[in-house]
Amino acid sequence: MIYPSQFSSDQLLEILTQAKTATAIHSTDEMIIETANDAMIAIWGKDKSVIGKPIEEALPELKGQPFLGMLQSVLHTGQTISGSDTRADLVVNGQLQPFYFDFEYKAITNAEGQVICVLHTAVDVTERYLGRQREMELEAELQAANEELASTNEELAASNEELGASNEELASTIEELTVTNEELAESQAVLQSMNISLAESESRFRNMIAQAPVGICIVRAGDLMIQEVNNAYLELVGRQRADMENRTIWEAMPQAAPVYAPVMNEVINSGIAFHASEHEFTFTRNGQTEQVFVNFVYEPVTYADGVMKAIMVIAFEVTDQVLARRKIEQSENRLNSMVMTAPIGMTVLRGRDLIIEIANDPMYEIWGRTPQQVLGKKLMDVFPEIADQPFPKMLQDVFTTRKRLAIPEMAVKLMTPLGEVNYIIDFAYDPLFDLDGNVEAILTTVTNITDQVNAREELQKARDTLKQAIDSAEMGTWSVQLSTDELTVSEQGRKMHGLTNDAKLTLKESLKLIAPEHLDRVKNAIQMAIETNQSFDVEYIINPADGSKSRWLKSTGKAYYSDDNRPESIAGTMIDITESKAYDQQKDDFISIASHELKTPVTSLKAALQLMDRMKEKEDLSTQIMAKLIEQCNRSMDKISTLIEDLLNLSRMNEGQLKLDKSNFNIADLLANCCNHVRASGKHELITTGDKSLNVFADEHRVDQVIVNMVNNAVKYAPNSKEIVFKIEKKGTAVKISVKDTGPGISPEKLSHLFERYYRTDASGYQNSGLGLGLYISAEIVRKHGGEIGVDSELGKGSTFWFTLPLK
Ligand code: ADP
Repeated sequence: MIYPSQFSSDQLLEILTQAKTATAIHSTDEMIIETANDAMIAIWGKDKSVIGKPIEEALPELKGQPFLGMLQSVLHTGQTISGSDTRADLVVNGQLQPFYFDFEYKAITNAEGQVICVLHTAVDVTERYLGRQREMELEAELQAANEELASTNEELAASNEELGASNEELASTIEELTVTNEELAESQAVLQSMNISLAESESRFRNMIAQAPVGICIVRAGDLMIQEVNNAYLELVGRQRADMENRTIWEAMPQAAPVYAPVMNEVINSGIAFHASEHEFTFTRNGQTEQVFVNFVYEPVTYADGVMKAIMVIAFEVTDQVLARRKIEQSENRLNSMVMTAPIGMTVLRGRDLIIEIANDPMYEIWGRTPQQVLGKKLMDVFPEIADQPFPKMLQDVFTTRKRLAIPEMAVKLMTPLGEVNYIIDFAYDPLFDLDGNVEAILTTVTNITDQVNAREELQKARDTLKQAIDSAEMGTWSVQLSTDELTVSEQGRKMHGLTNDAKLTLKESLKLIAPEHLDRVKNAIQMAIETNQSFDVEYIINPADGSKSRWLKSTGKAYYSDDNRPESIAGTMIDITESKAYDQQKDDFISIASHELKTPVTSLKAALQLMDRMKEKEDLSTQIMAKLIEQCNRSMDKISTLIEDLLNLSRMNEGQLKLDKSNFNIADLLANCCNHVRASGKHELITTGDKSLNVFADEHRVDQVIVNMVNNAVKYAPNSKEIVFKIEKKGTAVKISVKDTGPGISPEKLSHLFERYYRTDASGYQNSGLGLGLYISAEIVRKHGGEIGVDSELGKGSTFWFTLPLK
């Protein structure tokens, strides 16, 4: 577009004069400064030479600022652009400086509506702008200052609240109170400086004191007048408000003055707070005089100006805590002394770590350790070997169950410096509780009963052995409680007395079972045993309660005494000696029979010898008489030999010396050759029947002895038997040999006794009855060969004595 310079100077001037303020006209694409008034030129900081130049050239600093673009836009679009407080950086006085303008680029158009130029007006508003800017900054500052002030106020309020909240803490931590006080003082100072009402704060403070749960009393530093005291304080010391107000602290609390007045003076002088813990006082509260414990502090209260104004006494009672703690201490002391003096092993294990806290000497002995080796250490560290024993779990269980655990006779293995030891212990775990009722430790009690258990086992063994002995001896035991006369008798003892097992017994009653002729002897024996503390041993006959046959008993016993030497009981054993008594009787009888039996042949031997002696010198001695006497002597000697042979056999057998000298022989031959004395007498005929071919392997001499005895008996006890019959039979693998007579026979009740030692049926009437040994010896011989012996007999018909011998 071409913008011809169509204005005259006058016209331009005219335009310019229209402009109130700094004005310039720009035209063409180069934005030639057509004109600019002095004001504009002054703004630009240039001179009139700029007129006619493109603006870019005249004001090169505008490059990069938005104005050139705006100008172009107005020229092209015809739209006016304006702005206020718009910054433009211009080189004025050779310096690029920021300026602020209200400006307008206004398009000037011709009659056809074509833009012919831009009217640029500008008012330098830098002053105004910067002024406002400053104003705004100031306002912001002011605002910030206000906000700060407000937040300070809030902080102040918050710290007051905190102060209120920290009352409880105040009680426990005096230091915090100091801090709070300082904060309070600070707050007060701030309060003053910020013109916030001190009065309000003070009333809040007073309120706080009044409501504080700890006793607070403020004492003026100068004259010690009480300025402020709260209800908690009055309650603590047991005073009325009237007792304290308008008085000095020591007028109000005279008893405390001697001790605490100097302390308070010291605080005032030094400005250093005094803290007291658990001081003891006597206060009369609600008409009752009480010992109380108090924690308190004398806190100097200093205001902002640093002058001490008051002493704040803050006090709270800790009587309950002190008493509770003392109680715990007392019980701890008691526990400790109990542990230390206990005669059995005791230790306290603290916490689940089982720290060994205390232990006594018996415990150290069981452990095989010194106090230095265990105290303060974990149980499991000292005794790692118990990890796989049941104790650790049991201990942990007590912490959980909170219940006592006591177990008798438990085996424990410990490693001691001397090596592994195995104990048997009785032990108990007792939980010890803290104030909250939790298990804090375990009191462990241990008794080493290894020796007792071993001794008991030994004793038990001894008892078992004794019982076995008693049982195998078929012995009965008995005991009497002298105070009640109650009699305890073992089963075997009851059997002997024919008593039932459940019968209740007394000594008095059971003495009635004793045969009257023996009773006094038994009673005396018991009495003597009690009086002399000696054991007794007595034999007597009883008539059993069940009416069975009388028995001989042998009882022994001994009295037992109480600690003060009173006889308490008697205990002992009893044994049935009926058999041995009968045996003794038999033996006695045997001796008398044996003497008697020996006496007869010896007497007749002696008589024959005497006769021969008398006749030896006489010449008329007939050989006939001599021969008779010699025969008598021989008969007597045979008789004596037989008796002596029996006695020798008996003693041999008693000593187990019956030896067999076996050989193979024919039985029929043996029978044919034996008992010639019987054959010779002519009174009896000996007949052999049966299998005469049978041989046996046996002691021929002993078998002969058996047969001779049987034949002799037949001759003695069945003298009328014309025939005495031998029979030889094969019975399985044995040979049976029998001797049959036709004598009087033997009654059935006697049959079973015939083979017993010394047994003789009524021998009266039989001249040559023996010692009751023949059949006994025969039976022994047969048994020794492994055979059997017996008799079949019928009264009036005769007897058959028999025995068997194994064929091989
Ligand atoms: P003794 O030495 O007394 O003969 P024995 O032991 O040989 O002893 O016999 C025991 C008892 O058996 C005899 O006392 C007798 O009473 C009885 N007796 C033995 N054999 C016969 C018999 N053949 N007939 C009847 N009684 C007999």
